[in-house]
Amino acid sequence: MTESFGFEVDSAFQGQEGLELIDRSLVDQRPYAMAFVDVRMPPGWDGIETIARIWERYPDLQVVVCTAYSDYSWEAMVERLGQSDRLLILKKPFDNIEVLQLANALTEKWSLFQKAKTRLSDLEQAVRTRTVELQGANSELTRANERLAVEMKRAHELAEAALVASKAKSEFLAMMSHEIRTPMNGIVGMTDLLLDTGLDAEQRDFAQTVKQCARDLLGIINDILDFSKVEAGKLALERVEFDLRKMVDEVVALVGVRARDKGLRVTANIATDIPAVLLGDPLRLRQVLLNLLGNAVKFTTAGQVSMDVLTLRGKPDGMELLFSVSDTGIGIPETAQQDIFQAFTQADCSTTRKYGGTGLGLAICRRLVHLMGGEIRLSSIVGKGSTFWFSVELGTRP
Ligand code: ADP
Repeated sequence: MTESFGFEVDSAFQGQEGLELIDRSLVDQRPYAMAFVDVRMPPGWDGIETIARIWERYPDLQVVVCTAYSDYSWEAMVERLGQSDRLLILKKPFDNIEVLQLANALTEKWSLFQKAKTRLSDLEQAVRTRTVELQGANSELTRANERLAVEMKRAHELAEAALVASKAKSEFLAMMSHEIRTPMNGIVGMTDLLLDTGLDAEQRDFAQTVKQCARDLLGIINDILDFSKVEAGKLALERVEFDLRKMVDEVVALVGVRARDKGLRVTANIATDIPAVLLGDPLRLRQVLLNLLGNAVKFTTAGQVSMDVLTLRGKPDGMELLFSVSDTGIGIPETAQQDIFQAFTQADCSTTRKYGGTGLGLAICRRLVHLMGGEIRLSSIVGKGSTFWFSVELGTRP
């Protein structure tokens, strides 16, 4: 190998020898950038044959064909070697400067091409790696999606099954409560008749206790019946005319007996702008008020229980009223306030022992208030008292 004009140069006399040089350079990983190839190289392959064989092994080689007028035409060469931007023809006689410029330009071109090729293959590799990563992430996502779909389907099925079961349970409870109520009414009625007969003091006392127990039990059954009816979506509200003031007086009178026994004062105040006759379900409204007032009296040992009714806003065919029931009783701890409207929930486990009750009253109240288009809330301070307030929509006479 010789060095001239900054190039490393090798030469071969025959095509075969040239191809061997190319092979060796590839094995040594020092490939050539370009070759000057004569057309006539007797006795072996001619230049065109040599170029064709070299390109089979090493297609990147830039080639300058050195030829005289009588050799192949350009068309013949293209036909033999194919159209290529790696091929140039240099007609004899040569100009040295021209040869040097050609060598410089083609070597530079080869070197740029090699760099571009390396860069391209780096990029291709990066794209392949990223594609594999993306495919991995994608199939992970697909699997996660499939798992999610299965979980969601299962959740839907469970929710549906729970709903069906809950409805069936409520229907069963409603039916059972109804079945139990009939004989219970029989017990109360018969005890009343028994009390009208000639009993001695002890027998009368026993019969009174039976009657009170039966009444309490009937109350509990009625609560369960109401609760299951609402839960099963079977409770329909009435819409009849009623006198709110009269109803409030009755409710206050009903809880008044017990309040007086405990030394409590019960007051009721109804805003004057509320009309005498309203449209709604008086029995259900009365039930909510009785429950709230009953609780207020039950959980208060000293002080007073008060009820207020105000107009919240007028509506085209009625009005929204706000009822509030306040007491100076034991209060409800903040932690229990959230759950107090849930069925079977009492503020404290000791409540049942001390005050009795099923924990159904407020759950029923909340559902009834919702049915009447309102909301129920409370505020309470332990040891100071509680206020329950709720809104309902009632109609007014046109
Ligand atoms: P219960 O039949 O147990 O009274 P409720 O649903 O009416 O059922 O009430 C649930 C619980 O809420 C009661 O057990 C009691 O702990 C609490 N509570 C309700 N009203 C009051 C009140 N005015 N003062 C204090 N605690 C109350």
